Amino acid sequence: MPKIKCRGCGKELFYNSISDIPTFPFCSERCKLMDLGSWFNEERRIDEPATDDELEI
Ligand SMILES: [Zn+2]
Repeated sequence: MPKIKCRGCGKELFYNSISDIPTFPFCSERCKLMDLGSWFNEERRIDEPATDDELEI
């Protein structure tokens, strides 16, 4: 039986097919949301030109 490690918490997941895990490659919806959340925050930090407005003042 193939197994993966949850990308969120590292927990090992066993599965017969990927469709067995609706939240693949995460063990749960919670880990999935946590990972997406941190990824989104990283993206925002890169894209946000936070100092532009401050320079004009
Ligand atoms: Zn997990």
